[in-house]
Amino acid sequence: MQQAPHNGIKVGISSCLLGDKVRYDGGHKQSRYCQNVLDKYFDFQKFCPEMAIGLGTPRKTIRLIKDEERIRLVASDESFDITDEMEKYAQETSATLGNLSGYILCAKSPTCGMERVTLYIAGTNNGTKDGVGMFAAQIMKDHPLLPVEEEGRLNDTLLRDNFVTRVFAYHQWQCLVESGISMAKMISFHAQHKYLLMAHNPALYYKLGPMLGGNSDKSVQEIADEYIALFMEVLATLPTRKSHSNTLAHLQGYFKRHLNSDQRVDLASNIDKYRQGLLPLMAPLTLINHYLVLYPDPYLVQQVYLHPHPDELKLRYSH
Ligand code: SF4
Repeated sequence: MQQAPHNGIKVGISSCLLGDKVRYDGGHKQSRYCQNVLDKYFDFQKFCPEMAIGLGTPRKTIRLIKDEERIRLVASDESFDITDEMEKYAQETSATLGNLSGYILCAKSPTCGMERVTLYIAGTNNGTKDGVGMFAAQIMKDHPLLPVEEEGRLNDTLLRDNFVTRVFAYHQWQCLVESGISMAKMISFHAQHKYLLMAHNPALYYKLGPMLGGNSDKSVQEIADEYIALFMEVLATLPTRKSHSNTLAHLQGYFKRHLNSDQRVDLASNIDKYRQGLLPLMAPLTLINHYLVLYPDPYLVQQVYLHPHPDELKLRYSH
């Protein structure tokens, strides 16, 4: 049975999430899940942009301010403005991060926040939640395919599963590109991800196959660029119980010839109970993996859907 490989998966992370005392108050925002669990599977590359541009700790708090011309990063009492320094650091650092397969950010920070950061209106103490941390915004702009998530959102088991799944899939694509992209490799990659894609977004999944159909004047590189953009968009869609159940029903079909009637009823019942929310996803998947050991199928055994990430992470036990 194939397990997701996890050697050398580089993932960026806000330093304070790994317990570094780099926050404005000299504290940290340690995430035990990142530090004690994900750390075993990811090679974390940590960054604290505020420390990197020379702000010490403890330091004055900073905020994003929107004036008529631009968004600026300034001290909350407006005693200094670090917009230019942060933009320069963000641009230069982001340009070196093409080898990352994911990024975990600290929420709400005017530097690292992924979304809903307070954006103040110049000259007031009023703001909206429309802001994005200045460093985070640069990373997401320069690396639109990169799976990015905020640490707090990883407490949601669905979002956590989705983020880790995307990191592993993106890493696999990066390895493929590094080894030299070809149509044959893309077709094989697509075949391995068939049921994973189907579970995430069946409608978009059906648009991916024709891209590799060979009826195009585009270069291999152009096809690869378009393919991976849509591929990552598909995986960014959260799968539902319905889409998982439909995918499981497809997998069930592979064993029709082999299973006796009791086994068929049992598998169908497991899928149905999962569909109703009475069992976690791991229940029907365990049965399918069990039958795959008994009745190996070369097409099914390569399916990333059955092991999108290491089983030890237990990401499919609680939803
Ligand atoms: S949120 Fe970002 S800038 Fe702020 S302390 Fe953490 S790593 Fe540093």
